[in-house]
Amino acid sequence: MLHRDGWNIGWVNIVLCAIYVNLSLLRVACAHSSSVMIGEFDRLIFGPRQAPAGYPSFRINGKPIKHVEKACYLGIWLQTGTRNIWKEQYAVKAKKARRAANVILGLDRFVGNLTAWDMRTLYMARVDPYLTAGCDVCLDVNFKSLKLLESVQCMFLRRMLGLGSRSTRAVLFSETGIWPIKYRRTYLALKNLGYILKLKTEDDKPQRPVWNALQQSLSLARTKKLSWINDLRIVLAQLHVPVTLDISSEMTGAMIEDAMKEVKHSMEAWIDSELESSARTRDLLPGRLEMDSESGKLIKKSLDFRHYLRITSTNHRRALTRMILSGHSLAVERRRWQERGKPVVPRDWRLCCFCKTYVEDPPHAMFMCEHPALMQIREIFLLKLYAEVPDVRGKARTPWGFFRELLPRREITPLLAKLAYDVSKIFDSAPMLCVYPPASSVA
Ligand SMILES: [Zn+2]
Repeated sequence: MLHRDGWNIGWVNIVLCAIYVNLSLLRVACAHSSSVMIGEFDRLIFGPRQAPAGYPSFRINGKPIKHVEKACYLGIWLQTGTRNIWKEQYAVKAKKARRAANVILGLDRFVGNLTAWDMRTLYMARVDPYLTAGCDVCLDVNFKSLKLLESVQCMFLRRMLGLGSRSTRAVLFSETGIWPIKYRRTYLALKNLGYILKLKTEDDKPQRPVWNALQQSLSLARTKKLSWINDLRIVLAQLHVPVTLDISSEMTGAMIEDAMKEVKHSMEAWIDSELESSARTRDLLPGRLEMDSESGKLIKKSLDFRHYLRITSTNHRRALTRMILSGHSLAVERRRWQERGKPVVPRDWRLCCFCKTYVEDPPHAMFMCEHPALMQIREIFLLKLYAEVPDVRGKARTPWGFFRELLPRREITPLLAKLAYDVSKIFDSAPMLCVYPPASSVA
């Protein structure tokens, strides 16, 4: 039974699923309040469905309490009549997050183009709170509900980076430093668990309801019954590198801190493995080095807000981002998908529309192709490049190696972005070359 405005009726604490109060406690609550309005209460019934006549009726001062299937209590939505009682919570928060995301993405019409960092800041301030709302209560054991949140996050990050809907998911996080929402919610749930555990030592009488509720949840989990702790263990076990949470002995803050570190490592391992296994990213992204602001040294970071996203020219930044993250419109990418009735062809047949010899991919387009217009642009680029970083000359043996060599050098990133933009314009203005392998060679 829930008060619509989250009125405190005693010990109700939703944090660990104490989602109902019994009538005796309600009577106590009524005794302490001089203005209990019957219209302010809703009731929900959880458990196996029955015929409407089979449900008991609840009354306060003889007046019936309204029966509802969805209700919001302290910002958390509960739903009956479905296996997932948090279904409405995910749906409502995803809807609000999408609305906030769309407002941020539409801001450029009023204030001009925002930098990627500004968009990231707005995302963390306005969208992330909805995506993480109630994550310490509603654990992500239902993939369908979690997907609602993931789709909002991916949509925003793709639009922020200027990528299409088919872009690899892992790059959205590796390039922005934003955690995948699944990992972020799990991490925050653990952090909250660590906070609850500390409540025991706050004073001599550990009577905090949430701490007591946690002990109940642990007892249920140890007897293999449904509980918040068991849900948390399920979520942890389903991560890319499963994390185990031992509940056989007393749970300590140190155990939770270790689990939080393991969740972070699991997330980094997932991103690294995705970048290394995808044909669209494995040539350029794995093992990149980024400047560490604390030590001033180049170190490997699986997630970080990459320096090239700080390029102020939106067009140049997006062109370079697309070249790096395979969001461009060169043949190697476009012929990966069926487009206007043109069939997909193996990589070796996605040839350059100008030289018709080599695969049309970013390093070929930017550093190799001998099309006159491209060579003219490249000549100016190389003159400036070698003047700025002379040691780069002759360092790489392959076009991809040359691209990898240039990418971490912050001083020439705007130059590289301009080259990417100019090259993209030339290729976008030319029709794609469509050649097909002999029928017998198609797998
Ligand atoms: Zn070419």
